[in-house]
This record gives sequence, structure tokens and C-alpha cells, in this order.
Amino acid sequence: MSFAIHGVGVSSGIAIGHAHLVSHALLEVVHYQVPAELIDQEIARFDQAIQTVNQDLEAVRAQLPSRAPAELSAFISTHLMILNDHTLAEDPKKIIQSDRCNAEWAIKQQMEFIVEQFDQIEDEYLRERKHDVVQVVERIIKVLLGRPSQVPLLEQEKAIILVAHDISPADAIQFKQHQFAAFVTDVGGATSHTAILARSLNIPSIVALQRARTLIRDGELIIVDGTQGVVIVNPDKDALAEYKLRQEQWELEQQKLKRIKLNKAVTLDGTAIDLYANIEVPEDIVQVKASGAAGIGLYRTEFLFMNRREAPNEEEQFEAYRTVAEKMDGKPVTIRTLDLGADKEVNSDTERSCTNPALGLRAIRLCLAEPQMFHTQLRALLRATAFGNIQILIPMLSSITELRQTKLLIERAKQSLRTQKIAFSENVQIGGMIEIPAAALCAEAFAKELDFLSIGTNDLIQYSLAIDRTDDAVSHLYNPVHPAILQLIEMTIKAGLKLGKKVSVCGEMAGDAKLTRLLLGFGLRQFSMHPSHILSVKHQVLQSNLEKLKPAARKILGCQDSDKIEPLIQKMNL
Ligand code: PEP
Ligand code: MG
Repeated sequence: MSFAIHGVGVSSGIAIGHAHLVSHALLEVVHYQVPAELIDQEIARFDQAIQTVNQDLEAVRAQLPSRAPAELSAFISTHLMILNDHTLAEDPKKIIQSDRCNAEWAIKQQMEFIVEQFDQIEDEYLRERKHDVVQVVERIIKVLLGRPSQVPLLEQEKAIILVAHDISPADAIQFKQHQFAAFVTDVGGATSHTAILARSLNIPSIVALQRARTLIRDGELIIVDGTQGVVIVNPDKDALAEYKLRQEQWELEQQKLKRIKLNKAVTLDGTAIDLYANIEVPEDIVQVKASGAAGIGLYRTEFLFMNRREAPNEEEQFEAYRTVAEKMDGKPVTIRTLDLGADKEVNSDTERSCTNPALGLRAIRLCLAEPQMFHTQLRALLRATAFGNIQILIPMLSSITELRQTKLLIERAKQSLRTQKIAFSENVQIGGMIEIPAAALCAEAFAKELDFLSIGTNDLIQYSLAIDRTDDAVSHLYNPVHPAILQLIEMTIKAGLKLGKKVSVCGEMAGDAKLTRLLLGFGLRQFSMHPSHILSVKHQVLQSNLEKLKPAARKILGCQDSDKIEPLIQKMNL
């Protein structure tokens, strides 16, 4: 019988192949009592398993191909760190001793205790790190059960699709050498390591399918549509033919896209468009360079502050900002000041109790409330301006008063560097994020006092439509082409144009190729997005005639009926 399962597509494309179910060791753990005289032996068995996993992970790291994405090595280091932390390497031994239980059961109990603590973390990114702990424990249990390897034997001509409860980065590297066509998992979110890895491996992938591992049988034929987030199990003849066609088209398109990597992004009527990349950590530069991006339009510096107890000092921050600026060889690098708070808390200890963190002390509000922390970042940023083409971007501005306070603090940081005779660029450009509806409505006032504007559509949508961007229950209401959103975007672009200030979009909308023409029609000339989207957006730019887009964009802007907007956008893209 044919049926479909829906999840979250995290890497686009279509794969057709046979399911390989990855065993889920955690489900197979049994509990038994160990006689007192055999406890030492059980502990030794546990120690041996930890040692084997250590060796396995080290071996995987040593065998990484030189062109493997930088984050793969980082993922394995994280797993090694988790493995060797006393909470996993030592505490289960105490459980074996006190409860006289088998090693598998002890490590599983300890894992559940750790996972419970992770579940209480509000920050989505940190919360998802619990999957890393689970993945490491899975590995240990598999060794204890005597089944360390997950790599299946492949018949060369068959495309294999991995169906797993979860996949660890270390396993995925081994899988990669065996050329899997796709992978799908029961758990994970859009920012999970599995999702990040999927994007960097460039194979179609879907996470959060909930029960794929129970619904799909080993060897069954399945179709993975990573673009739509759908798995079709046992497709009939018609569905198979349809998806084979779509797959061929997709692959052809990807090949074609690669040909434009070195092309300048210029419209048919000769207007140059800036296509920039968003990054979270300096290591992302590798992918930025491979994408042919013209610069960095958004460096989210808050990631430097996460997963740690102490904030990075001025020197550490300076090194990170300088590295990015230098590696970009004079191309523009827009570095955003700290956007901590809401779904991006540093760690659970620093969480402030407030009813609605997204409306609380976040981003620039937090920086103004903690001027010393902000001063440290501003000094580091300003010092880095002497080493490249850096611009500073302020997140979450809601009023001009806030902007003026921020500029005073920037001036204070500059003055402290002048006094110490430390080099920086006096003319560093200062821009502001327009991501609160109030700021979009007053965009002209902001444009007057800033050098450039950058529209953060992710938050602009969240705040305009009153939809928590992290809440699954309302995600169906998250509509980037709601008439109100389009009006706020257009109004901001117009305000910038009027005052001769550059305006970019750096939220997810910038990387959605279906919206490129609409945004061009609104007058947008700068887009900043995940590097993997640059070529598809460039493709749209190369085929667009700005004069022809304007009337269609005007018509869409005048449309108040959400249901009519999608078809109008589709027509514009023909
Ligand atoms: C945005 O809000 O659109 C944005 C780019 O910022 P972030 O996603 O980091 O909140
Ligand atoms: Mg934002």
C-alpha cells in the first residue's frame, strides 16, 4: 500500500531508493541485575566500551576527506567531548555499583537524566544539542551490545535511503563514503546538527517525521522529496514516473546553476544586484567562498557567546571578527552586534524570568542594559575594521532614541581606542535591522540617521503577525507574503531609496528564489542568505527585467487578499 509521511524538509532535492532502517539501539536495552561479585567486571566492560567509541570517533576524524566541510570535524570533536565528560564516562559506573544493574541500563538511565535537563532549556539551539548526547549514548550501547557498525552492505546499483530515529554526524560521514541518496529521521529540527549536516552534504533530507522508522520497512521503495518535506512509501507506477521526471529536472537545474557561480549577478537590463551570505561562525567562510557570494550581509555574532559559561573577551571576539574580515579579502562584511535573548539565550543560568522573552530584553535592548558587555564587543568590532571592509549592524531597533543611545556608545568605544592609539576605521558604516513593525513604519527616520538598513524578515513576520517563530503550533500562520508584510518591506525599501541609503533583506525571504522577482520589483538591490541559496537566487536575477517587474510588484502590493497573492507571485515568476 502506498502512503505519504510529512516532516520538515531540511535539504532540497528528490531521491528514489530503497529504505535502509538504521537500528535504534536505545529501544533494545534490557534491564538485568548483576551479581555483586561481577560488578567490577561490568564496570570494566563499560570502560572498554567508552574506549572503543573513543577509538572509533578518532578514526573517523582521522579519515575525514580533506574537502569535507569544516563543521564535520567540529561535530566529531563535540561528540568526543561529550563522550569523555564525567557525566557519561564516570557517573554511569556509580549507577552500576549502586543499582547493581547492567552497563547498558546504567548509561541509558544517565542519558535520560541528562536529556531531562536539556529539555528545560528554552533556547532551541541548545535544547537540540541533547540529540548529540543521545547519539553518543547510542554508539556506546551499540558497542556494549556487540554491534558497533551501522554501515550497511550496499548493492552497488541500488540507491539507498537511510531511515533512522536520528543520525549522528560521525555516522553520517561514514554513510557519506557509501554514497547514500538521502536520509530521513524521526526527530530533529531545522537547526539540529543533522539538518546542518544534511545541507552541507547536499543530499535530500527530511527530519521530524515522528514515526518513519516504525512505518517504513527495510528494503521498501521510497521517494524522498526534500523540497516539500514528504516521503512517499511504496509509490505506485504513476507516482514513480512523476517523481523520476521531477528528479531529472531537479538534477539538471542543479548542474545548470553551477555554471553561473562565477557570473556577476546582473539583471537583463544591466542592474547589478549584491548577493551576500549569512554566517554564524568564522568557519562558515569556506561555504561562503564556494557559493560565489559577493560578501557577507549578516554575521550573527551571538553564536560566539553560546554553549559556554563566560562571554568571550575582547581579544577572542577581535580575533573572530578579524579572521572573517581578512578571509573575505576586502569584500564587504556586515557584522551584527549581539542579538541574544528570546530564543537565543546563552545558557539556562542566564535566563531571565519574563513572560514573553521575544518581547523582552533582547538584542540591542540587552546591550544597552549591559553597557560594559556591549563596550567590549564594540571595541573588538572597531579594532577589526582596520583589517577589512567591515560594517556594523544593530539588531532589533524600535525607536530613534535607542539608535541615538547606541551611536553614543559606539562613539565612546571609538574614543577609548583613540586614547589608546589603537587603529580602527573612523568611517565605519553603521546600519540598523528593520525587524520590528514600528521601525518599518518609521524607516525614513532611521534611514536619516543610519548608513544602511537591513530588513530582518524572520522577526518582522513574527512581530507583525503575532506568531512565535519557534512555536510549531502556529507555524502554519507564518506567512512571508501576507499583504501587511509586503507593505512593510516595500515601505522600508522606498525610505532607503529616497534618502540614498542601501537597503538589504537578510531574513529567510532573501534566500527564497520564488520571492526574488517580487523583491526586485519592490526596488531591493541587496540580498543576504544562507550560502546554499545564492545560486538559485542569482539564476532569478539573471533572468529578470526590472522595468517589467515593477507593474506586477505594484499590483501585488495593492492586493489585500492573502489568497490572491500566491497566484500573482507565480505569474510574476513565469
Ligand atoms: C531576521 O529576523 O530576519 C534576522 C535575519 O535575524 P535573526 O534570524 O537572527 O533573528
Ligand atoms: Mg531577527
